[in-house]
Amino acid sequence: MTLESHENPGSEALTLFRELLRIDTTNPPGNERPAADALAKLFQREGIEFTIVEAAPGRASIVARLRGTGERGPLLLNGHLDVVPADREHWSHDPFGAVEADGCIWGRGAIDMKNMVAMSAMTLVSLKRSGARLARDVIFAGVADEEAGSNHGALFLVREHPELVRSEFVLNEVGGHTLHMGSTRFYPVQVSEKGICWFELVASGEPGHGSMPHPNNAVVKLARALEAIGSTRLPAHPTPVVDGFLRALARRAPFPQNRLLPLLLEPRLAGFLLDTLERSNPDQARGINAMLRNTVSPTILRAGRKVNVIPSEARAELDGRVLPGLGLGQFLAEVQDVIGRDLRLNVLEAHDGTLFDTETPLYDAMVRVVGRHDPDGVVVPYMIPGFTDSFAYARLGAICYGFSPVRLPADLNFTRMYHGHDERIPIDGFLWGFTVLSELVRDFCTSEG
Ligand SMILES: [Zn+2]
Repeated sequence: MTLESHENPGSEALTLFRELLRIDTTNPPGNERPAADALAKLFQREGIEFTIVEAAPGRASIVARLRGTGERGPLLLNGHLDVVPADREHWSHDPFGAVEADGCIWGRGAIDMKNMVAMSAMTLVSLKRSGARLARDVIFAGVADEEAGSNHGALFLVREHPELVRSEFVLNEVGGHTLHMGSTRFYPVQVSEKGICWFELVASGEPGHGSMPHPNNAVVKLARALEAIGSTRLPAHPTPVVDGFLRALARRAPFPQNRLLPLLLEPRLAGFLLDTLERSNPDQARGINAMLRNTVSPTILRAGRKVNVIPSEARAELDGRVLPGLGLGQFLAEVQDVIGRDLRLNVLEAHDGTLFDTETPLYDAMVRVVGRHDPDGVVVPYMIPGFTDSFAYARLGAICYGFSPVRLPADLNFTRMYHGHDERIPIDGFLWGFTVLSELVRDFCTSEG
């Protein structure tokens, strides 16, 4: 029992959060070490055991652990320390100033995801101070490199130091925020992520002089394939999570969304409805489209070096996203149905999507704690079209949920905050999130027996 008096843990979490926002961990290059050191100082002071590992110089991840009795499997709280670049001239406040204005804290990482890092670290501190008996270990991981694919962060830990992060459950990002629809507040919990298939298309043709056009031009062949991909939706495969999510939204949505949302699950109507929605609410149209099918976005082009020479080869790189449960083979067959087989297709990098059960005591505990702090809020499982560190922890058999709680007002759009200009978090929403997360972890991990 310690006799020293502490501030209220919510305001301590807020102070830590602002300290982390002021540390520039823009990736590339990342340089997460100073952020890991700031967390190390806190754990050191509070007598919490921790380890710092570096996958490369400066690319630090920190893992801390509160030991339980081991009756049940560990819970891991994960947050990445790196952030995406911020374009200063488009920001109202310094993206690394942690400025307080209009009831919010502004800064790159305010939502993605130094908020969760600070809340999670302070959750361990509160638990440690309380002296609560834990039935499971509670692990904190503040990791490098999520924004560049996790190779120097969560994947490095999973490959090189699995004993530090092996756990039964993981709480991570992209869920637990307020999603307003009509007058209903939803709290989506991420239980599923799409996989990736990043690939290259190579068109070969006849080289020649630019003054003598011919029909076997590699650039033109590649352009035709890309045009076909850009103008075609791959087949719809509504997964049970997406089906359940859209129907849950529809049950509480106002007219006409309550009628339209379920129709998006009808493959014959979905295309027309998505085209219509793209004109009125493009964010929603793109989000729903990505949940319903595999997708491909051409992103990089390479061909030719001289304006008067027809090159013999043209290359494109494409970002493919694959629904969980659909194999790589099926995805590639869908792509080749659109572009034909004239071009060479090389897979550059691929991993499967994830899908986690909601019939777990942790999911039930999330529903209970949100119900306590927003009695009208509705918790609903959903899938994200991207991926997070969860795909790495899933390789060690963990059940991973995106639940980084924050209460947001209707006029603050969560998806726009992600990687957008003027990323910020309402102070009261942050404090609400800290209360929810720390209660959840306490309820789930303590045991009186
Ligand atoms: Zn993130």
